[in-house]
Amino acid sequence: MTIRCARCERESEGLTQAPLPTELGRRIQGSICPSCWQEWLRQQVILINEYRLNLIDRQARAALEGQMRQFLNLPDSDQP
Ligand SMILES: [Zn+2]
Repeated sequence: MTIRCARCERESEGLTQAPLPTELGRRIQGSICPSCWQEWLRQQVILINEYRLNLIDRQARAALEGQMRQFLNLPDSDQP
């Protein structure tokens, strides 16, 4: 499936699999190119180390998800 990436605005093949088993994961598959996703994965490691995020903690996961939406240019789906 060809997608237009929400972050870099290039046309590209989408990810072969949704990277998360959620609605957001399906959105990422439909709107983020694989190279931007790889960039986020690297960025995520940096953020987790920098802020010492404990991903067992719900608030930490929510904060990281907010960072991910910002990084990937995917605003919250609750907003129009
Ligand atoms: Zn991209």
